[in-house]
Amino acid sequence: MKLCPNCGTQNADQFMQCTACGSVLPASAPQPVYSGTAGYVPPAYQQSPVTSAVGWLGWTLLCGFLPIIGPIIMMFAPDDPSAKNFGKAMLVLQIIFGIIGAIFSSTVIALLRYSLGI
Ligand SMILES: [Zn+2]
Repeated sequence: MKLCPNCGTQNADQFMQCTACGSVLPASAPQPVYSGTAGYVPPAYQQSPVTSAVGWLGWTLLCGFLPIIGPIIMMFAPDDPSAKNFGKAMLVLQIIFGIIGAIFSSTVIALLRYSLGI
């Protein structure tokens, strides 16, 4: 069936003009049938799984509570490629900040010990 863009009347696919108002109908293209999500095949650009907002919250909490380990899990566990990339980025950042933090805290401890004469 083709819907008339002018008046909304349903016309048989072979009709070139609307049976109700006579306006020209668009060329017959198979209209996608959206019957819920079952049987719906998304276009190729949408086919990679997408992590939900709740999923992102979970991953962020995991990376926060389990530094290094969380991002490593995140690099392999999700199907979503952007979540995997996020895991890689988090791992690199946590290693960098871990090294900076270790240098900083050992410097502070060394300075404290020196100034206190321990
Ligand atoms: Zn019409």
